[in-house]
Amino acid sequence: MNSELQSLIDKLALNNNLARGEFLALLSGRDEAAAQYLFERARAAQQAIYGNDIYMRGLIELSNYCKNDCYYCGIRNSNHEAERYRLQPEEILACCEHGYAWGFRTFVLQGGEDAYFSESRVTELIRAIKAKHADCAVTLSLGERSRACYSAWRQAGADRYLLRHETANAGHYASLHPPGLSLDKRLRCLADLKELGYQVGCGFMVGSPYQTREHLVDDLLFIKEFAPQMVGIGPFIPHHQTPFADQPAGGLELTLFLLGIIRLLLPRVLLPATTALATIDPRGRERGILAGANVVMPNLSPAEVRGKYLLYDNKICSGAEAAECRLDLARRLENIGYKLAVSRGDYQYS
Ligand code: SAM
Repeated sequence: MNSELQSLIDKLALNNNLARGEFLALLSGRDEAAAQYLFERARAAQQAIYGNDIYMRGLIELSNYCKNDCYYCGIRNSNHEAERYRLQPEEILACCEHGYAWGFRTFVLQGGEDAYFSESRVTELIRAIKAKHADCAVTLSLGERSRACYSAWRQAGADRYLLRHETANAGHYASLHPPGLSLDKRLRCLADLKELGYQVGCGFMVGSPYQTREHLVDDLLFIKEFAPQMVGIGPFIPHHQTPFADQPAGGLELTLFLLGIIRLLLPRVLLPATTALATIDPRGRERGILAGANVVMPNLSPAEVRGKYLLYDNKICSGAEAAECRLDLARRLENIGYKLAVSRGDYQYS
């Protein structure tokens, strides 16, 4: 292997950080040998903290209504061909019930920015889930809300919040979103969530339109500085009814390489092998874990709505991606030396 790349990876593993120029050199010089070496070091870092446990989260996609118009997203407001749905509270509670029986101890409520899921409705929902499943964590992923709203949900018992920063470069942010959405607002929300005591997740799409290597380094430096408990990254995949329909999808190799880097940047981070990664490669989930990821998020939504939460084309929602197939998932993970844990899978602070 190129000795410069090896020493950059060693330095990253030792210091859990690199300078901007060093990240750039690592990303531009990367090759297969460097990737394998990076993944080895990333797995060692992960195993030192979390052993061979992989945590699972039951993903409940509660609504595909969205007031926003992000250029990349299939459920954007302007996509009039999307078949809209929203789950009722009793349906969401039934998902949790099934999920609990299958061993899930974290429920992730994700959706578009849908006014129906108001501060009070979500507060009631969190209380109802916690009343039935006091030993479970509730993660929210409902976009940008006011600090007061985040605070009410936290008071009601929500433990974690996922809100990808999407890109840490303001100019790039503006090329992915319409006016009215800004990086400043996004970062304000992330800061609020952190101050309110949530375990917070940020993240970005790999290979999103107009993304440069410099932008990726901005993302890595931001992640290091913000120090979230979770980071969600996955390849951008085009959706045919969006302005980015003709843009190329993000690459598998680059996504895996970035997972390895992020594990070494923040060794304790909870890092999912995402659905988007599993969509672009049938072994994407396993490859993500072998690159340093330690979380999987099977779909717990009712089967009849899964095909409607289409953020991008060909999104998978069956097989090992489906919560009811967790035995298949468990077997796949065992085949690569890992174990699906029945646990909340909280961030290990020390
Ligand atoms: N509305 C909430 C929010 O914005 O955080 C949660 C749902 S949003 C659809 C979840 C994530 O999906 C976004 O943060 C984005 O990174 C990802 N996403 C949307 N469109 C995508 C695409 N075409 N390819 C890959 N990921 C996409």
